[in-house]
Amino acid sequence: MQSKSSRQMIDEQTKQLIIDTARIDDVVQDFVHLRRKGSGFVGLCPFHKDRHPSFIVTPSKNICKCFACGAGGTPVSFIMKIQNCSFVEALRYLAQKYNIPVPEREMTEEEQERQSEREALYLANEVAAKFFTEQLLSSEEGLDIALPYFTQRGVRSEAIQTFGLGYSPNDRRALAKYVEAHGYDMESFVATGLLYASNEGRPSADRYHERVIFPIYNVGGRVVGFGGRTMRKADKIAKYINSPESIIYDKSRELYGLYQAKRAIARLDQSIIVEGYLDVIAMHQVGIENVVATSGTALTESQIQLLRRFSRNVLVLFDGDEAGVKAALRSIDMLLGEGMQIKLLVLPDGEDPDEFVSKRSRTEVEEYFAAHAQDFLTFKSQLYAQQMASDPQLKTQLMRDILQSIAAIPDSLERVV
Ligand SMILES: [Zn+2]
Repeated sequence: MQSKSSRQMIDEQTKQLIIDTARIDDVVQDFVHLRRKGSGFVGLCPFHKDRHPSFIVTPSKNICKCFACGAGGTPVSFIMKIQNCSFVEALRYLAQKYNIPVPEREMTEEEQERQSEREALYLANEVAAKFFTEQLLSSEEGLDIALPYFTQRGVRSEAIQTFGLGYSPNDRRALAKYVEAHGYDMESFVATGLLYASNEGRPSADRYHERVIFPIYNVGGRVVGFGGRTMRKADKIAKYINSPESIIYDKSRELYGLYQAKRAIARLDQSIIVEGYLDVIAMHQVGIENVVATSGTALTESQIQLLRRFSRNVLVLFDGDEAGVKAALRSIDMLLGEGMQIKLLVLPDGEDPDEFVSKRSRTEVEEYFAAHAQDFLTFKSQLYAQQMASDPQLKTQLMRDILQSIAAIPDSLERVV
């Protein structure tokens, strides 16, 4: 049930306009790959482990429904369920999608307190993301130091916009001062990890100071966290600092770049998994947009389920070093277990995807992928073949390993193929 206070935030007239404007097929399509069927659409249900398309979208009635698990409803209730958000949050999401202005009025102190904590954290991230981008593109320090850093790495201005890249200044209190000066709620910035809380007389401070910023968007396009990369080389400090988990950020459930990639994934019916933020951006820049990154964490089941909403076909790209191969081997069984169809690709000469694509045209990259992508059986066999030459005992291990992968496939039909 919605509390009265959260309803007050959007007036009745605007609410009705949003409800009247949102089209079910259009809304669902942002999350589920739909195929036309009769006068409606079908797709894999995003709310249960759906093997065959059970999710029906009926534009004439402006509703959707899964005939297997029963989930579905109007555009608003679909968004509430898939984003796990409130009624008002769903309305705001749809307003943003359809460019419907939501008249904002000054909130009273009481309303501010009652406003949902989640919304406050989203707002903090939104404010910070804008601040970081302004610092990158308009401050002297950003233009002198951070923008050239991106330029040297081949990141162009279009990608800076698409991925909302930014810069957190050297001043350890740059964002903290901005938050104070604008009267934003400091606690929300602490809760999202943007600021360290003031402590024993020491004032609050920025987490990401003197780093370039990669915002992490959820599938609906809201900023849930940040990655901050140092521009210094060979330093003792961590290369990346990432947001801690919060009520809006669970890193095992987010994939970097999915928001920007989801339409391309659905259209091409394939996703590509890479490791890093810059890999995703580099691929986009050559025109390959169906790319996501796990950003340093091992692939999780939740991430695969998220990806599967858009396509069951996935190409896993990794650099040929030992860590890369190990990561790929770990991912294979998990992907198979979630019913994904996998191809694997090792890049030559230990290059990462960023280096690889920046030297090639889109056609060259696509041709290389087409020629070298392997199914998991071929991939594993080849990997072990080299080692087996020196150690025949490995043959048993290879067989066991491959059988284990096959056993992970849930659909017996696919085991045969
Ligand atoms: Zn279902």
